[in-house]
Amino acid sequence: MTAPRLEIDLGKIQHNATTLVQRLDARGISVTGVTKAVLGAPEVANVLLQAGVSGLGDSRLENLKAMRAAGILAPLTLLRSPMLSQVSRVVTNADVSFNTEIDVIRALASAARTAQVTHGVVLMIELGDLREGVMPNELNSFVRETLACSNIELTGIGTNLACRSGVSPDDRNMAELSALATSIEEAFGIPIEIVSGGNSANLNWVFAGDDAGRINNLRLGEAILVGREPLHRCPIDGLYTDAFSLVAEVIESKSKPTQPWGTVAQSAFVDTAQLHVSDRGVKEHCIQAILAVGHQDTDPGGLRLEPGVTILGASSDHLVVDTGSLSRPVGSEMSLQPNYGALVRAMTSPFVTRVWKPCHETISAHQTKT
Ligand SMILES: *Cc1c(COP(=O)(O)O)cnc(C)c1O
Repeated sequence: MTAPRLEIDLGKIQHNATTLVQRLDARGISVTGVTKAVLGAPEVANVLLQAGVSGLGDSRLENLKAMRAAGILAPLTLLRSPMLSQVSRVVTNADVSFNTEIDVIRALASAARTAQVTHGVVLMIELGDLREGVMPNELNSFVRETLACSNIELTGIGTNLACRSGVSPDDRNMAELSALATSIEEAFGIPIEIVSGGNSANLNWVFAGDDAGRINNLRLGEAILVGREPLHRCPIDGLYTDAFSLVAEVIESKSKPTQPWGTVAQSAFVDTAQLHVSDRGVKEHCIQAILAVGHQDTDPGGLRLEPGVTILGASSDHLVVDTGSLSRPVGSEMSLQPNYGALVRAMTSPFVTRVWKPCHETISAHQTKT
């Protein structure tokens, strides 16, 4: 088999998705399965749909297009505000888009008229994280202008936190979103069907309380795919954190000094060059292996290695590790566990191949274990 490769366990993804769908359903919250980290892979999309997500969301139109082309009929939502230059492709490839600019909504309306379709719009509201969103005090006039657009259906409102400034979802900002839904309904006499409270960073808040107010939808990527919540990157109870492994091959394995020699200046990638130097204690030599994987394949800082192995440095094409007490011969492989950021990079790299492990293999392995 070729390396580097991502081994993707669809059964673990299905387990994670089913678990989250059920836990949230008990609180009246539907799940939009977010596919951007896997580039809209139909293999994953189908597993999410079997797990009971209400629709699929992605920030890239290309990924939504790939899912439609693969015959996926579920509702598709474009999560990133459409570019003005892509509105006609948005209305033909997405059922709904998230929006914050009236000029874009008007352009979507015009494109939807031409395509003879109705396009759904979710208005995103700024609640403090300072990424996308209409300011709450401007929402009423924004809604009025949106309702005046033909071929546009205002399907809901939403917000996105914890992505730019790390502002956490809490009782206060979530109650504000609920109150805004109700105030739009009262001011305009229309139902706000979807109140989309956020992403995987909302899970801690949802599970800590017993009343989510009007919040009836979350968009989940990271929690489903890697089983962690993004605020503290803690594993979520009962979920797999290892649905993805990045397998890389050893191309050099030697005992080497732990300290470089010569005149030392900057290296190619300053941030990871000194990754775990402090962990190395007072050893003078170590068994150093080079794996044929680097910044061009993944985010080396986002990889978790087997116990006893530490990352010493990384460049475009090399990952240098201290293999601890075991030597890893040339030609052997090592399994690395990517976090969400490292996963996105690996899925996007043309140098990383993918191996899909179908659902039934995980399930039968699970049955033998118990
Ligand atoms: C990526 C994205 C999500 C999903 O985020 P996760 O943290 O992966 O769950 C949700 N909403 C928007 C607007 C996004 O861009």
